[in-house]
Amino acid sequence: MDEVTRQNREHTLFSWSVQSQANPIHMTGGQGVYFFDDTGARWLDFSSQLINLNVGHQHPKVLEAIKAQVDTLCFAGPGFATGPRAELGTKLSEVTGLAKTFFTLGGSEANENAIKMARHFTGRHKIITRYRSYHGATMGSMTASGDMRRWPVEPGMPGIVRVFDPYCYRCPFGKTPDSCGRECVSHIEEVIQMEGPQNIAAVLVEGITGSNGLLVPPDDYYPRLRALCDKYGILLITDEVMSGFGRTGTYLSTQHYGIMPDIVTCAKGLTSGYMPLGAVIVNEQIAAYFEDHMLWGGLTYSGHPVSCAAGVANLRVYEEERIFENVREQGAYLEGRLLAMRDRYACVGDVRIKGLFSVLELVRDKGSKAPLAPYGGSSPEMNALAAYLKAHRVYAYSRFNFLWVCPPLVITRAELDEGLAVYEDALAMLDRQ
Ligand code: PLP
Repeated sequence: MDEVTRQNREHTLFSWSVQSQANPIHMTGGQGVYFFDDTGARWLDFSSQLINLNVGHQHPKVLEAIKAQVDTLCFAGPGFATGPRAELGTKLSEVTGLAKTFFTLGGSEANENAIKMARHFTGRHKIITRYRSYHGATMGSMTASGDMRRWPVEPGMPGIVRVFDPYCYRCPFGKTPDSCGRECVSHIEEVIQMEGPQNIAAVLVEGITGSNGLLVPPDDYYPRLRALCDKYGILLITDEVMSGFGRTGTYLSTQHYGIMPDIVTCAKGLTSGYMPLGAVIVNEQIAAYFEDHMLWGGLTYSGHPVSCAAGVANLRVYEEERIFENVREQGAYLEGRLLAMRDRYACVGDVRIKGLFSVLELVRDKGSKAPLAPYGGSSPEMNALAAYLKAHRVYAYSRFNFLWVCPPLVITRAELDEGLAVYEDALAMLDRQ
């Protein structure tokens, strides 16, 4: 362990880690889809760090914009108007079709504030979320999350009611997509009736579920959910922190399904991680409500000029470098490769993909669909897979029995091939075990 890593370990705490087991890579630099460690080794970043580094490492145009803003005005309080805030707010209204943005520092805070605004606007207090979901690590957003990351903060924030997910590979209702009647939506109506529609402020869902196995909903899921929310005057909040801002080839993943949420939360890809920034983007009605009602919320760093400048530059790169087109092109290629892996390797049970947002679900055998590691746990096989990828300097996100492919959106076919070759060898190794 080098000195820097030792000091990191000795004097700082690492997220989501038993500290004695934290084994960080000492990152010293990056370029495009690659980063470098202290030994000089080059790693292929097949996970865009935390699925946020959409324009890749050290993009010169974003760096330039940050430097220019630092030289001009490094900080302005949240009650001031600034150029970058104006430009980014305007751009977000344009690309989402929503009205106004409240800026936060990241996704967790965005969800906290979205919940608060929904409660104020509707005068109702309950929020419906899904079990296989993650909405952040602050108290409220962690309670709103459905997976086991919420357990340590329970009982957490009151008023969260959970429903099941559109997880077609393992349908919680035991159905198949062609004949299910979308029970994953109709059961939400039953829950609404049991909880009292007059008490429910919002349904909060990830646009496309990310860290719980990338669950791509059936095409008519969102139109049905939108109609259900309208029927009961319930707001639809989509958390696009991971699935938004280019990851699936659109600004919002729900744009694939032709619906408009009432509130969108985002972060990550909004600046490609170059500066911390999150956003709560609200529709006309909610914006109008806060014209003559107090917005009970504020953050010292809301609308930080350097973060907003990074966001503006990042979205400009999206347009100038035709990032969405690359996502569509490379995503189609990636889909073909992943489906071929599903056919070739016994351990690949399912493939789910939208743009460059994709996952392999790994199983002991395709017939029984027994997961290669239990939900919420690990297994020697999944540990061996992670070790193999690490040894071959491919930085990948794996959790339970899921293995993601979420590279920076600037990736080329040759770079995809480089990582996929290592994935194929790793899957072949698992099949041999
Ligand atoms: N929502 C989703 C869907 C996420 O994936 C994440 C982080 O991974 C968050 C919220 C929390 O965002 P942050 O870590 O920026 O607070």
